[in-house]
Amino acid sequence: MSTSVSADLIVIGGGIHGCSAALHAAMRGMSVVVLEKDTVGRHASGANAGGVRRLRRLLPEVPISVRSAEIWLKISDFLDDDCGFRIAPQIEVAENEQDMEKLQKRHAEITAQGFQHEVLLDRDAMREVIPAVADYCLGALATMDDGYAQPYQTTFAFERKARRAGVKILEHTAVTGVHRDGKRWQVDTAETRFTGSAVLNAAGAWGGRIAAWLREPVPLKPFAPMMIVTDRLPHFCDAVVILANRPLSFKQMPNGTVVIGGGRPGYPDLDTNGSVVRVRQLCLSAATAIDAFPHMRSATVIRTWAGLDGIFADGLPVIGRSSTEENIYHAFGFCGHGFQMGPAVGELMGELIAAGTCKYSLEPFAVTRFKNGAAGSAPGHG
Ligand SMILES: Cc1cc2nc3c(=O)[nH]c(=O)nc-3n(C[C@H](O)[C@H](O)[C@H](O)COP(=O)(O)OP(=O)(O)OC[C@H]3O[C@@H](n4cnc5c(N)ncnc54)[C@H](O)[C@@H]3O)c2cc1C
Repeated sequence: MSTSVSADLIVIGGGIHGCSAALHAAMRGMSVVVLEKDTVGRHASGANAGGVRRLRRLLPEVPISVRSAEIWLKISDFLDDDCGFRIAPQIEVAENEQDMEKLQKRHAEITAQGFQHEVLLDRDAMREVIPAVADYCLGALATMDDGYAQPYQTTFAFERKARRAGVKILEHTAVTGVHRDGKRWQVDTAETRFTGSAVLNAAGAWGGRIAAWLREPVPLKPFAPMMIVTDRLPHFCDAVVILANRPLSFKQMPNGTVVIGGGRPGYPDLDTNGSVVRVRQLCLSAATAIDAFPHMRSATVIRTWAGLDGIFADGLPVIGRSSTEENIYHAFGFCGHGFQMGPAVGELMGELIAAGTCKYSLEPFAVTRFKNGAAGSAPGHG
């Protein structure tokens, strides 16, 4: 191993969360190194559906997601790149009365928390937003100014801005161990030992392995959400559509292709970096899309893939300080919906690490919440 390289903060993982946090820490004057075992954006942050959605967030995530939405609306000014971001409605469709009741209940719940961004739409109002939706659909819950963006373009924009702020980003550099050396941390790779005052675990689906090295094991499971892209269709949809009770996320891109996801899982494999699609599950996704938009029956599938993210049973990521070690921080396990949150989680991690303060309640995201099987199950993801 060659001589050590020193920095204030060492970030493990070059996804959107690692790059965003590195940028914010550097903007606060820290020297920062990001270590990425593959290439920046190679995993979830480059392979996702690009949905920028506050809609249907679990309540503990809402304040951070709302802050992220503010940053997304000005993303061009912040990153000098538009990230392919387009403002569009996100709309959650009720397929039956039970779904409608669920959406009404959710609307009451989030409004009672003081958030106004989700609006209930009756059948006619829903059809104004998505005229091509199937006749049997009854209404919807929507956020009118969420949207979608290009995943790689966004992650690379964070990377570029971080480099310009002085962050050193090293690709093909896998971290193999993290050890305390007095008040500092040693972060080992095959060729070099890095030393830092602080370390951030932003290792995505692999974040649980890093946490286990630090004596705080978590029940993070690998998760391989799948995507389908169709050929170009005449323009018919401006919104990003999800269903209240079946896995579907659905959007038509400006070039006419339709991107279909929603969280049906393929086969993940953390050891080979791989994820393989499950054709039967993909067929279910396609069938759901056809139910909701019957004219999709004539579309041709041109591409499919599965990505890799980490998922917890309660649907929330781990964000915050280590419970066992000083100056170790975590931001991983975003459960299939962490792309939208990248801008604000990076901002809050930068503040937490550089200034020691945080304006959000991070307790629901604590790494300790799994002790004694305490963290429960989530209503869905994607
Ligand atoms: C198919 C799919 C669709 C999705 N759709 C959406 C969506 O529409 N909207 C939304 O908000 N979210 C969506 N998500 C979720 C979102 O993409 C992720 O939650 C988010 O990108 C996670 O970012 P990250 O930086 O934590 O992880 P990653 O992007 O996975 O980055 C973690 C990085 O850490 C690196 N790493 C791991 N271990 C080590 C090590 N030992 N040494 C060095 N580097 C290491 C990995 O190589 C990886 O590059 C989707 C995810 C997928 C897979």
